[in-house]
Amino acid sequence: MHAQVPQLMHGRVVVVMGVANERSIAWAIAQSLAHAGADLIFTYESERVAERVQRLAAQIERSSVVMCNVAEDGDIDALAAFVRERYGVLHGIVHAIAYANKEDLAGAYIDTSRSGYALAQDISAYSLVAIAQRLVPLMTQGGAIVTLTYLGSERALRNYNVMGVAKAALEASVRYLALDLGVRGVRVNAVSAGPIKTLAAKGIADFHGILREVEAKSPLRRTTDASEVGDTALFLLSDMARGITGEVIYVDSGYHIVGV
Ligand code: NAD
Repeated sequence: MHAQVPQLMHGRVVVVMGVANERSIAWAIAQSLAHAGADLIFTYESERVAERVQRLAAQIERSSVVMCNVAEDGDIDALAAFVRERYGVLHGIVHAIAYANKEDLAGAYIDTSRSGYALAQDISAYSLVAIAQRLVPLMTQGGAIVTLTYLGSERALRNYNVMGVAKAALEASVRYLALDLGVRGVRVNAVSAGPIKTLAAKGIADFHGILREVEAKSPLRRTTDASEVGDTALFLLSDMARGITGEVIYVDSGYHIVGV
């Protein structure tokens, strides 16, 4: 269930990065944005997921689809060129992308390899900087950027390991980008989502144990629904959040406030 906020994003163009399938958090955000009247540009990682993303995007009236592997600067340049030629202006970016080797998301953090560390940082944190560099110049009417993070950035959570360190860098990047871009009328924020069963979550050892823990201990006594993250991202991308930048907002049934 998405809250009904008709036309909050009417006339706004938003790039949505990170849809892999219908369970993706980016897809829930896209639905919230579409309900609010936004024009959407979906990006996908590789030809492997192209057909699936194109099929999903076809459900949304005003949308287009572009391939963009964030490990490749050339792909991000091509995305910026596409947005400039097709739309001329950009108002929002959703960055819902992360990656780490499966073996680095289990066992001990101390065993992380140099290459595994660099890969997680590159795809999960640096990509936000690379994207902002190339897309913010198109935000000539001001804009907003939203990324996705997780509690493992600030607490040592079993198995989250190298991704927790990448999320810490991502959240710091949110603050530094917010400081850089405020004068250009561009806000940068993160949503810290509670655990949600997605493709990326499958890579984390004992993910079901984490879901059970949130059900048992969070103030709302339930896990997070992707639509709740979608509506919060919509809020942050809209003028309703015009006074908020450099912030991390938790959408996690309140789990992060609870002590042991
Ligand atoms: P998902 O697997 O649906 O989305 C991850 C996306 O990252 C996929 O679309 C994948 O194609 C994309 N991606 C990976 N490498 C890429 C690359 N090189 N170039 C372009 N795209 C690439 O899973 P999700 O859970 O929806 O993840 C979205 C974001 O939400 C991630 O940043 C994740 O860390 C974050 N998050 C997830 C949870 C959760 O429990 N699922 C909780 C908090 C935060």
